[in-house]
This record gives sequence, structure tokens and C-alpha cells, in this order.
Amino acid sequence: MTSDLHPDLTRASAAHLARALADRQVSSVEVTQAHLDRITEVDAAVHAYLHVDADGALAAARQVDERRASKEPLGPLAGVPIAVKDVMTTKGMPTTCGSRILEGWVPPYEATVVSRLRAAGLPILGKTNMDEFAMGSSTEHSAYGPSRNPWDLDRIPGGSGGGSSAALASFQAPLATGTDTGGSIRQPAAVTGTVGTKPTYGGVSRYGLVALASSLDQAGPCGRTVLDTALLHAVMGGHDPRDSTSIDAPVPPVVEAARAGDVRGLRIGVVRELGGEGYQAGVRARFEESVQLLVDAGATVVEVSCPSFEYALATYYLILPSEASSNLARFDAMRYGLRVHPDGVDDPSAEQVMAASRDAGFGDEVKRRIILGTYALSSGYYDAYYGSAQKVRALIAQDFARAFEQVDVLVSPTAPTTAFRLGDKLDDPLAMYLNDIATIPANLAGVPGMSLPAGLAEEDGLPVGFQVLAPAMRDERLYAVGSALERALADRWGGPLLDRAPELPVATLRKDA
Ligand code: GLN
Repeated sequence: MTSDLHPDLTRASAAHLARALADRQVSSVEVTQAHLDRITEVDAAVHAYLHVDADGALAAARQVDERRASKEPLGPLAGVPIAVKDVMTTKGMPTTCGSRILEGWVPPYEATVVSRLRAAGLPILGKTNMDEFAMGSSTEHSAYGPSRNPWDLDRIPGGSGGGSSAALASFQAPLATGTDTGGSIRQPAAVTGTVGTKPTYGGVSRYGLVALASSLDQAGPCGRTVLDTALLHAVMGGHDPRDSTSIDAPVPPVVEAARAGDVRGLRIGVVRELGGEGYQAGVRARFEESVQLLVDAGATVVEVSCPSFEYALATYYLILPSEASSNLARFDAMRYGLRVHPDGVDDPSAEQVMAASRDAGFGDEVKRRIILGTYALSSGYYDAYYGSAQKVRALIAQDFARAFEQVDVLVSPTAPTTAFRLGDKLDDPLAMYLNDIATIPANLAGVPGMSLPAGLAEEDGLPVGFQVLAPAMRDERLYAVGSALERALADRWGGPLLDRAPELPVATLRKDA
């Protein structure tokens, strides 16, 4: 098996690392140190991380190595390091959510997902950059500056989880976590040539995530291969009594499905409303080619119509701000986070401190959505906006239900375009929102979705994402399709897509300086 492991440990897949660790061919300390070195080399250019915890990661790695040496039974990913999106609370490690209002906050408790990673022996390399409170599609709304796309440093790595996708695509972590409220796992995966899954709503615990829109938020796994993503999904997922919306059922057999990659006889539906006009030509071409490869692998394909998807974006931008305005009310400068003394006021009231702190602590996009949500929920407007949006949400769920009577999975491009340039959409919120046109329906209905690389667009040479959607609690179908497509494409490309990404500028590494 020695030959399987890439000589550069940062280029190896998590599955290969896990096997080499189990065989004691490498130690977790070596694997973790290799990634920390890579971070030192390239993160000045990429800015995937907001916080790197070298000491904590190495201590965790050492502990796994010792447990392995004493023949303790260990989980399948034990010793493989991981990057954690900064929306997840980490005990003893800063959690900012990309916001000034939480700068320097060190949570006294921890997200269930993070506790599960630790218990499974995954050393945590650090916290990844994101749009403030997960609002955005580019990481440009991070209060700490944007992350950059490793394929082209002048372009966005997607958002809100652009730090995680950029870390994976620049080999600064073999695995990462994300959250997907409207596409923040799938769209960053699409534009960086990586893989990401939004599990079924309730399939992975939300306990300890900083809430954006609670009825839409879902944590999930990010990786460079479909199997790696499945292995992480299995570690993160499963029932959590601390989350009242957590599903009390076993994690679907995602790893088995990823290993088999069998789509023979599977019925695939191409969603008419998610494609065509408004989608970049090179995105459409790669998408159609991928559909053909799935047919060659034994699937059958039909076109399906989901007419209510046309209203998904409008529905989302009423429901999300409404829930966000309520969730973000907790940032009141009284309990935690930034507290600002208002200028020129000697003895300010609590309200004045709150107003000054929220004004200084929140960025423009966050304020925009709080105002929108407060308006949509206000008496006199509630029925017209929030109430109507809830009704359309039900219609979207019905469209999915009807489609899944005809087919086993639905497919579409993940995003309408490849990665755009930093700054291009920053002053145009609607243009920014349109990036999620194909990912949002799944969140509104609670169904699972995955994005995986479909190749590079002809016109700009940038990654294109292929989206797979499945019925609730049938997450394994995403992995069956993803794995079959990944295999067919690797045959065509003669190796992983990321091998074709350009080399990054490397800072000089002075180990013993
Ligand atoms: N880009 C979408 C938004 O801005 C999705 C965000 C997310 O999934 N967290 O709301």
C-alpha cells in the first residue's frame, strides 16, 4: 500500500492518510506538521485561516499517535488533521464568525460537531475564514479580509465557507467543515474544484453553531474527494439530543455508497429550471458532459420540471433575513463580544451602548439583512412577506416531492458561473445573491445536496461544480452519483483536477529560525 501514499503528505487524500496512519507508515504528528508547514508557506497569499492552532493540533496528533502505539481502537479518520469553519464554537479557541462583534471571543463550550471531531482523533489545524455570520458568496464580507481562490488569487473562493474551500484547494488541510444555509458548502466547493455536502436538514447537529437562519442552517463535510467527504460525513453526523431538530436515525450509509459508486439503473432528473439562460456557456458544457458520463455508467436521465424553483431566491431572502434578525439580536454588547462606549456620551444607557456596539461591530451586509428581516416580520407586513414566503416554501418542497416520485436524484450545475473577480459583485447585493440560485431550493426543502468538480470551463480555465440532490435521509445517493462521476472524470483527466491548479507563491519556510 506504500505506493498509494503521495510523497508530499499535504497532497494525499484523507482516505490514503488514514490508511497510512493505521499501518503506522506515518505518524499523525508528521502529517499535522506537514500541513502546518504548508500553512506557513502559502496562507499569506491565500488567507484561508483566521486562526491557526499549531500547538493544539500537534498535541492532539501526539495523543492519537500514543493511543495507536498502545493499540487502542481508533476511528477511521484518527490522526487526519482538519480545518474548522469559524462559525463553529471551539472551546478554548477563538470563534469570530468573520465578525468584529465577536473579535477575541473564546467560547466556554463547544459545538457537537467539533466535539465529535476531537473524539474521533482529528487534530484541529485552525479556524477558517468566512463571510460575516455566513452571509455571502465570496468571503468578501469577512471583517478580516477576503480569502483568495487558489486557482487564481484575484478571484473569490466562494462563500460563505471560502476559507474552508481555499484551504482544501491549496493543500492546507485534507478535510474541512462547513455550514450551508443557502449554498455555503456547495458553492465554494464548485468554484475551487473541491467537494462539499449539505446533509439532510437534521442529519448533522446544529448545537454550538452560531445560528444564521435556524430552519435552513446545516453543517456538513468538505473534502477533495467524494470518499474523503463521506468519511467525514460519517464522523460528523448522527443524532444529538442537544439539537431539537436532529434526526433520531443512523447516518445514511454514505461511506459504503462512496466506495461502490454504483449508478446502474439509477434514475437521474435534470432540473429544467436550474440551467440554461443565465448560466455561463462553459458551465453548461461541463455539466452536460458529466450527465453523459453518468449515462455511460448505467444511469437513465430524464428532464424534470420544478416550476416553483423560480421563486426560491425571493423566498429565501425573506425567510433568511427574518430568522437572522431574530438570531442576531443576541449580539447586544451585554453578554459577550464587542462593547463600544458611544462617542461624547458621559453616562450612556444600555440602549446607547447596544446601538454603538452593533453599529461598530456589524458590517454592511449584516445590517442590511437585519433591517430587511425586522421589516418583513413587523406587524402589518408579516402576512404579506414572511407569511407568503412560508407558503411558497411549501410549494418548493412539493416540487421536490413530485420530482422524487419520478427520479432517484436531481442534478444541475452548482453555480451559474465560475469564480468571479474580487470586488466584482461587492457593491451589488442582488448580483451576489444570484450565485446561490441553484443551491437555495435544497435548503428551503431540507433535502441533501452535494457539489463535486465537473472540470474546467473552456473560456476561463476555472473549476465548474456539478450538483446532486436527493430526497431527505437518502444522502448516500449523493455519494453513489458523486463517486461514479468522479471516477469517470479522473479516467478522462488522468488524475485529480487539482493537479492542474497553478503553483502558489511560497513564503520561505524557516523551521528553526
Ligand atoms: N450565500 C448565501 C447567503 O448569503 C448562503 C449563505 C450560507 O449558506 N450560509 O445567504
